[in-house]
Amino acid sequence: MTTQEVDTLVIGAGPTGLGASKRLHQLNLGSWTLVDANNEAGGLASTDVTQEGFLFDVGGHVIFSHYAYFDDVLNEALPEKDDWYEHQRVSYVRSRDVWVPYPYQNNISVLPTDDQVKCIDGMIDAMELRAQSTLSPKTFDEWIMRMMGIGLADLFMRPYNFKVWAVPTTMMQCKWLGERVAAPSLKMVVNNTLNHKVAGNWGPNATFKFPARDGTGGIWKAVAKTLPQDKLQFNKKVVKVDADGHVAHFLDGSSIKYKHLVTTMGLDYLVNHLEGLDDATKHLLQQTAKDKLVYSSTHVVGIGIRGELPNRIGDKCWLYFPERDCPFYRATIFSNYSPHNCPQEGTKLPTLSYADPEHGEPSKEAQDGPYWSLMLEISESHLKPVNNDTVLEDTIRGCINTQLLLPDSEIVSTYHRKFTPGYPTPSLERDDALNEILPVLQERFDILSRGRFGSWKYEVGNQDHSFMLGVEAVDRALLGAPEMTLLSPDFVNGRRNNERRLNV
Ligand SMILES: Cc1cc2nc3c(=O)[nH]c(=O)nc-3n(C[C@H](O)[C@H](O)[C@H](O)COP(=O)(O)OP(=O)(O)OC[C@H]3O[C@@H](n4cnc5c(N)ncnc54)[C@H](O)[C@@H]3O)c2cc1C
Repeated sequence: MTTQEVDTLVIGAGPTGLGASKRLHQLNLGSWTLVDANNEAGGLASTDVTQEGFLFDVGGHVIFSHYAYFDDVLNEALPEKDDWYEHQRVSYVRSRDVWVPYPYQNNISVLPTDDQVKCIDGMIDAMELRAQSTLSPKTFDEWIMRMMGIGLADLFMRPYNFKVWAVPTTMMQCKWLGERVAAPSLKMVVNNTLNHKVAGNWGPNATFKFPARDGTGGIWKAVAKTLPQDKLQFNKKVVKVDADGHVAHFLDGSSIKYKHLVTTMGLDYLVNHLEGLDDATKHLLQQTAKDKLVYSSTHVVGIGIRGELPNRIGDKCWLYFPERDCPFYRATIFSNYSPHNCPQEGTKLPTLSYADPEHGEPSKEAQDGPYWSLMLEISESHLKPVNNDTVLEDTIRGCINTQLLLPDSEIVSTYHRKFTPGYPTPSLERDDALNEILPVLQERFDILSRGRFGSWKYEVGNQDHSFMLGVEAVDRALLGAPEMTLLSPDFVNGRRNNERRLNV
């Protein structure tokens, strides 16, 4: 098989690889090519369509951009006003059988009185703990106790985060948190509670935009279309990287020789498929990845339902579920993001089942809509096993328990897919692992491993971050520029990054 030669090889056509490719195309400083094992662009930021015509993303994907460069690229790919819907975030936590507006900690006024007392008690203890502490918290659990106290910890933070991460908060670090979790103001909480008020929208993603057509995956297919098509190679799975020889080998027997490599494959996969380096280094990299890089899997369950959107759902966007009455940690009302996420008017579908099968046997005759849809996410790890055979029915049962569905809701389409890995866990050992592996790859072998699982940093693992990790990796490889997103997550997350990165 032939060996192609390029200056820069990019592995992976997810947001990170597309970011690298956009920048390579813009800089035009040498030859490059992008390869992906899949048959199209998108990676984890892609969208499936059920046979009945319901769209489902890989879990709730919401664009909240920190970067002008990223916005420019999206606007170039989908330039029309009607390419997007703009939404106001409407988000709640299901707790004690009521909907608590997000963020939970600021809105305990809607909880029963004894829970309010526990939360406020805990917050007072937490304030005292903060005043006495001289050292920073080491674990996420210590951080929760210091910032919020035992009441909020036990009602929401611990159970919810276990459902998301599939590891206990005692096994996670807290440096990743940055701006993501609101620190409650005791004054405001007491004030709201006594006055029976709820706090307004908080945080970075109070409004968000969503593509009108083709789901999140449509964005990345559109971005890929803006690149020279002869440089994109799909169905090319990397099975070996000769680190010293600078050659990537593919499942089809072909290979590509490069000067610089930007890879977005999982870092664990990469180090287990490296050749051409001494045994001691290889063993060290592989062992470090095995012992210190932690991930969880994500099940995505989609449900298409016949009927008008119920009032109890209304304009809700996404919802959090800390309690045990359902297996999912998050539900997205996906039909609220775009009417094109459901089959269009005039589509007739039979009812597959009622949400509660005990409600009876539905008619199999195809009938009219309208339709709406739910998308649910469930995490899995060896510490939090999931019955893969029953996860769909367990999820539907959980939807009834939490009033997302009623027993007689007519289900017309279902979807279930498991993504492994789904979340890069900010484990206690993660930063040690990254500090041990990434510099060896960069300095000795010109390999820049970047992206959600390429550089394993959840705090810079969203689509905007991932895209910029790719852009910045290219700027580092070709221009020697520093990579702010990889190296300073708090800096990029704490500001609007307006740099336009012109040609050199
Ligand atoms: C459940 C969930 C919810 C999310 N929610 C949000 C959100 O709300 N907002 C947001 O902005 N982001 C969200 N994200 C993150 C978003 O999906 C990521 O930012 C993005 O997909 C990461 O891009 P990437 O290119 O680094 O990795 P990926 O998307 O994983 O792409 C990697 C690519 O590499 C390819 N590849 C892997 N191995 C090989 C190989 N051996 N050979 C060749 N190619 C290979 C894969 O096929 C894939 O296309 C979410 C992710 C998940 C899983």
